[in-house]
Order: sequence, then structure tokens, then C-alpha cells
Amino acid sequence: MADLLTLDEAQALVLARARPLGSEPVAIGRALGRVTAAAVNARVDLPPFASSAMDGYAVRAADLPGSLRVVDRVAAGGPSAHELASGEAIEISTGGVVPSGADAVVPVEYVVHRDNERIDVAERPAHGAHIRPRGGDVALGAEVVGAAVRLGAVQVGALAAAGVAELECARRPRVALLATGSELAAPGDPLAPGQIYESNGLMLAAALASSGADIELLPRVADDDSAHRAALERGLAADVLVSSGGVSVGPHDLVRRVEAELGVEEVFWRVAIKPGKPVSFGVRGATLVFGLPGNPVSSLVGCELFVKPALRALQGLRRPLPRLETGRLATGLRRNDARDEFVRARFRLDPDGGAMLEPLSGQESHMIARAATADALVHVPRGEGELPAGAPVSWLRHGLLE
Ligand code: AMP
Ligand code: MG
Repeated sequence: MADLLTLDEAQALVLARARPLGSEPVAIGRALGRVTAAAVNARVDLPPFASSAMDGYAVRAADLPGSLRVVDRVAAGGPSAHELASGEAIEISTGGVVPSGADAVVPVEYVVHRDNERIDVAERPAHGAHIRPRGGDVALGAEVVGAAVRLGAVQVGALAAAGVAELECARRPRVALLATGSELAAPGDPLAPGQIYESNGLMLAAALASSGADIELLPRVADDDSAHRAALERGLAADVLVSSGGVSVGPHDLVRRVEAELGVEEVFWRVAIKPGKPVSFGVRGATLVFGLPGNPVSSLVGCELFVKPALRALQGLRRPLPRLETGRLATGLRRNDARDEFVRARFRLDPDGGAMLEPLSGQESHMIARAATADALVHVPRGEGELPAGAPVSWLRHGLLE
């Protein structure tokens, strides 16, 4: 065991080979989840004109307090042609263009009296009151979103507001997923003796759905040389090939041998983690090749620790490794002396607002239904003895909390 690669060493070997893919133009309506290849600047001043922050009246502050004649009305989208003169007010809606000549907006609530023609205002507004200056959010040409940022809803909104119709994004990594195992049946089919339902392919596709990748789930294959050869060769056309199963030491574990025959150079096999020890990683040309173990929790943990970081790096993200958070163990845990463990746990806030992590019962790597009730993976570094209740730990959001 002592000769196993550590998690850090294995992740470094993956990231050293996950160089950014190129970029391509992407329409703003399709940019959610994509990573910017370069900083994106505003195409207009935002707001594009001085606009009213309130429903009210555009005025000259120096006229007030006093009585003003209402000479026009502006709704959003319909600027007034009238130049406001002293003694006049123009009724204005939120978002309306502040008419030239006006230097403040009086909210409708501050009008003490109104008849058809006139308003009375009891106080003088500050110069510029309730006017949103042109370019006050971001100026034409200034940066709206930096380079290497994954676009969420708010970034999509900001870019659209700033007039960006298309932007340069990292190319989406193409990921081929392949489940191997003669025992696998499709969910919904009757189970023959010895069969189990295939879950890893669907689960890994789901785990990677928000990673920016373009995912192809290949038809599952039995533990048969020629079936493996054909499916793996097809998967090697992608940027990333991820298989599940068949990387242990059994006579039916064919993935590594067939990959080697297809020209995959193995970079590592087996890492000092639990679950997920038999994970393999190699390359063929520019294709990254991950062999995740078949036990469902092992394959999910391998996906979090190796595949997702690689996809982030391929898209140019600068901190590709999992974002670990800090918290405390609610109950003690025995440590593994040889391997770093990732323990499924429930998250809750303690009264001081810190994260408390309650390890679940049922930590075996086939127990995917138990894992589905967890919302955290707690990192328990290898070592002697026990981590007591209250010990500080790092943990990774997973499942429900993501
Ligand atoms: P393997 O890594 O192929 O030795 O598989 C380890 C365990 O995971 C075995 O119990 C397999 O039946 C199970 N397993 C393998 N692939 C899958 C899969 N796609 N879905 C669910 N369980 C799997
Ligand atoms: Mg198998």
C-alpha cells in the first residue's frame, strides 16, 4: 500500500495533462455554464442614458419647493421631445429617459397635491436625486465579466444588459462515458439471475451535466474483449473517455489491457483513496482516459476528484480542483492508515453558523442508495487512530447541496 500514489500526486498528474482546449464564439442565449475565453467588455454604457429610478416627476431642483406645471409624460422606452424649462415638471416612469433640462426626479409619494395641470412639492430634492446616471453600472468598453469565468445566471444577465450578443468561450470538452460489465441491465428491464441495474453511466452523465461538457453516453458493454475494443476505440475519439468498471484485478477486468492495446499510455493506476482506489488514468494523443471503478460510490468519488477537475482545466478554469469547505465532525471517525477517505455525511449548521457533518451509516462503496441521502463528502486524511467528534475537517458539497 505504501507505494500507492497519494491523491495530491494523482490530481497533479491529471492536471499536468489537461491543457485548455481552444475557444469558439457562443451566442449569449446559449452561454449559461460556459467559461469565458477572454474578458468581455460592455458594448454600451449601462444604463445607456440617464434614467429615472422612480415613478414621479422630472424637475429642476432649484424650482422647489413650489408648484410646477406638468407639461409632458414619459414612459419607459418613450423619451420626451420636450426640453424642461423652469417652472415645469414632466411625469416620468421608472426607467424613463430623464428629459434634458431636468436635474432631479421627485417620487410620486412626495407630491403633496396634484390636479390635471399642476403639482405641488413641499421639499427641494437633492441635485441628481433618483436619477440613474448613464454608465453608472458599467461604462462602455469596461469589463463586465473577466476571463476564465463560468457563466451563471447573473453573468448571462449582465452581459445581455451590456449589449453582448456573442462572446468567445472555451470549447466544450467532448466526454464519452462507457459502463462495462456483463452483469448490467437497463433500468426497467427484468433482472435475470446475477444481473444488477446499470447506474454509473446515467449517474456520471448527471454528475457532469453542469460541468460544461458535451456528453455522449455509449451503449454499455459486456466483459468481452471485442466489445470493449470497439466501444473504447469509439470513446477515444472524444476529448475525454470515462469508463466505469473493469479496472480491478479480476480476470474479467479488461479495460486497462484493452486500452493499452489501443495505444493508451497509462499515467497511473490505483490511488490511496477510499472509495475509488483502483482508478486509472492515461492518455492517447490529446484524449484523457479515466477508468473509474465499478462500485457506484467509487465511480462518483473518482468523478469528483479526477474527472471534474480535468474538465475544468480543459475549459481554462484557474482553480480546477474541488472546492473543499471547512466544518466539524458531529461524531468521531476511525481513520484509515493507508488511504484518504471520503465519507458520506449529512450537513447541518451548528448554532454558531459553522458546518457540522454527521457521517452516515452504510459507507460501503456499493451503497449508492445510502449515498443518495448524503449531501457532503468529508475528507478524512489517512492516519492513525480516530478523528474525535468536533475535529475540524474539509468537505465537499455533493448531491442535494450542489
Ligand atoms: P468492477 O469495478 O467492474 O469490478 O465492478 C465493481 C462492482 O461494481 C461490481 O459489484 C459491479 O457489479 C458493480 N458495477 C460495475 N459497473 C456498474 C454500473 N455501471 N452500475 C452499477 N454497478 C456497477
Ligand atoms: Mg466489472
